[in-house]
Amino acid sequence: MYDFELPRVVDTIKREGYTRVALQFPEGLADYAAGLAGEIERETGAEVIIAADPCYGACDPADVAMKALGVECLFHFGHSPILKKTAIPVEYVEVRMDADPVPLLEEHLELLCRRVGLFTTVQHVHLLDEVRTFLEGRGFEVAIGPPGGRAVHPGQVLGCSFRTAVSVAGEVDCYLYLGSGDFHPLGVALASRRPVFALDIASGELRDMAPLAERTLKQRYARMARAVDAGTFGIIVGQKRGQKRLKLALELKEKIEGRGREACLISADLITPETLMPFRRLDCLVNTACPRITIDDAQRYRQPLLSPQELEMVLGERDWEDYSMDEF
Ligand code: SF4
Repeated sequence: MYDFELPRVVDTIKREGYTRVALQFPEGLADYAAGLAGEIERETGAEVIIAADPCYGACDPADVAMKALGVECLFHFGHSPILKKTAIPVEYVEVRMDADPVPLLEEHLELLCRRVGLFTTVQHVHLLDEVRTFLEGRGFEVAIGPPGGRAVHPGQVLGCSFRTAVSVAGEVDCYLYLGSGDFHPLGVALASRRPVFALDIASGELRDMAPLAERTLKQRYARMARAVDAGTFGIIVGQKRGQKRLKLALELKEKIEGRGREACLISADLITPETLMPFRRLDCLVNTACPRITIDDAQRYRQPLLSPQELEMVLGERDWEDYSMDEF
């Protein structure tokens, strides 16, 4: 079902003469790690180390830690490249997923608008052309945005980069997302303010994202309302290389202090409610690290956890109607 591009991985190791390599997987693919490590060792004779710290994106390759173990090359699975410089060579294996979305789509065509924007995650970008051809054959106009932001493929979005989809908002009446999970279609719904339908290839469902988008927006406004009178703010600075926005954090601190309130910077590698538990005296937290943390984990934080854009709204620097997603 998944394509781990084993022949390419093996060829690379043999061609470059690597004797020790590492494999890094996001949580959803980690189940396959031990099996792949064994196959690679058998095929190449190289030693293989699995990098097991949690990994949520290509913003967080394990190159530095693996270099310290004498690893010559890191194979990073499940994401497209983000960082330009790494401590050792990093080979990205995007892990395409085999699927045929057309029969499922055919059952739900009546829900779509005439002009449709297509988007997906890196696992399914190879399916977009087939879906476009199918929809055009049924009389739909289809738009697929060019790569932009952190996306390297047409139609690709990441949890911190919806630009590819939003860039065609003017040409579409609704969007169709191919893939699993709610975060990416929710992000495009909030970023574009267009109807979004999510075709979940794994479960066989087509979901209208409108109810979740509305509920999420209500929750975000409730959190902002709780933060309006906050006197003390903690601004979170991520330590992962592709999530570090110190300059932005410093600007936010200055804005908060300019309004006569107090702010401090808090930096962590893994940002969790447990990491931030000791800072319970702060009235409000602002997250400049991975934007997914702000939305996905919001319920688990004691204080309101805001995005930089939401902070601007709370401080009166941005119109409350002008809600926008935090993106890199
Ligand atoms: S910042 Fe977050 S959403 Fe963006 S690539 Fe990293 S983990 Fe994924």
